[in-house]
Amino acid sequence: MTESYDLIVVGAGPGGYVAAIRAAQLGQKVAIVEKTNAGGTCLNVGCIPSKTLLEHGTKAHDISMANDWGIETQSLKVNFSKLLKRKQHIVNTLTDGVKYLLKKNKVTYIEGEATVTDDLKVKVNSDTYQSKDIILATGSKPFIPPIKGLDDIKYETTDTFFDLDTLPKQLAIIEGGVIATELASSMADLGVKVTMIEVNEDILLTEIEVVRERLKAHLKSQKIKILTSAKISQLTSSEVILENYDDVSFDTLLVATGRQPNIKVTEALDIEMDGKFVQVDDHYQTSRPHVYAIGDLIKGYQLAHAASAHGIHVVETLAGLNPNPVSPENITRCIYTRLEAASVGLSEEQAKEAGYDVSVTQSTFQGNAKALVKGESQGFIEIVADKKYGEVLGAFIVGPHATDLIGEVLGVKASEGTMNELSNIIQPHPALSEAIGESADAYFGKAIHM
Ligand code: FAD
Repeated sequence: MTESYDLIVVGAGPGGYVAAIRAAQLGQKVAIVEKTNAGGTCLNVGCIPSKTLLEHGTKAHDISMANDWGIETQSLKVNFSKLLKRKQHIVNTLTDGVKYLLKKNKVTYIEGEATVTDDLKVKVNSDTYQSKDIILATGSKPFIPPIKGLDDIKYETTDTFFDLDTLPKQLAIIEGGVIATELASSMADLGVKVTMIEVNEDILLTEIEVVRERLKAHLKSQKIKILTSAKISQLTSSEVILENYDDVSFDTLLVATGRQPNIKVTEALDIEMDGKFVQVDDHYQTSRPHVYAIGDLIKGYQLAHAASAHGIHVVETLAGLNPNPVSPENITRCIYTRLEAASVGLSEEQAKEAGYDVSVTQSTFQGNAKALVKGESQGFIEIVADKKYGEVLGAFIVGPHATDLIGEVLGVKASEGTMNELSNIIQPHPALSEAIGESADAYFGKAIHM
């Protein structure tokens, strides 16, 4: 017998599981199919293990900084297997939490790899299911480029890196994107000698120049070697051989050269593609009615919170709630190195291209009391606003807790507030957020501390 649902979601990552739970809240009969672990890339081999690793590195850094302040400890020793156990405990807590929430909301959890047939039946193992609507949320996997010698040697991807047996001594990372940079920063704080090898002219090319430059200075202070415009001629089991730099020795090689969508699930469906991604309309419907695609499977930001926002949009649209569109301009982009970076909305250049008369204000953390107390006074807050009405168009923060601080600017921006609202907030003291107030005050020429 073919079991029937209102909605079947394929993939239980942050796109899929959030969509399934929200649909169930809206009274739908929902099933979700997952071939590996609930929580997807994000919880198992992405956001969460990488932030746990970063926190471990940050703690090691804090201990050595505390020594400089006069809180003296014996020499630092990293017990890597204990760190790994802690990472796994956090991952398990969160993935178990996802399963609990699915169950609590009466979503049927089906284990196995799903295929979707041309007549929109979902097959898992030897069972067949059907539903009115299907959401494809199968995410992405590491992309491995052809590099001479790579096939003959052992290398890590982000799928394997978080389960290394031992802490590397010398880590070579091919590429300098966000993920590569985050892992480089974490490992350097744990005492690993890190070299980033980037074939493009710079690392972090998705970011604006001031952000890039500040983060690069931070990475260099962590003694991370950054090789840009690198020409890799070959890889051996212990060296990256470069045409234009000295060869780089490693005991661990991480290939972090981007990700590609998991499109296998679409094979039997005759749906339109947008390059390597599944093409969707404004409501994430594919070219096949009743089939939706969200998250890393479609073009745009490959971010967990974007995937979840897509999923909620689909199911609320199906329920006739007419939700607001998911605006890419209100999706934050974060870089979790020890010195964090976060941005949202338009850069000065993009705002000018869009026809705005632009005002850009910048405050720094140098004179911010809380940042000084914490010993983390590097970085800045830049706000891009429209000169005419003070509309907040974009914000770029590099500094302590940047990924949390950006929420305050986003709150004002997303509710269509202006620099006036941002400037009128009475910030707590001492707080990092005072730097946001300073940047907003600077727009009116009334900043006190700069
Ligand atoms: P995924 O999370 O990839 O989930 C897809 C799920 O579908 C998987 O569980 C997979 O097993 C399952 N699946 C695939 N095919 C099938 C099938 N045929 N049948 C059944 N199940 C199937 N994003 C952030 O926002 N913040 C971060 O800090 C961050 N850090 C990251 C760090 C790293 C190291 C990496 C690799 C990624 C990071 N990301 C981060 C990106 C984030 O993980 C992804 O954008 C997000 O997980 C995408 O969600 P998704 O639901 O689209 O897909």
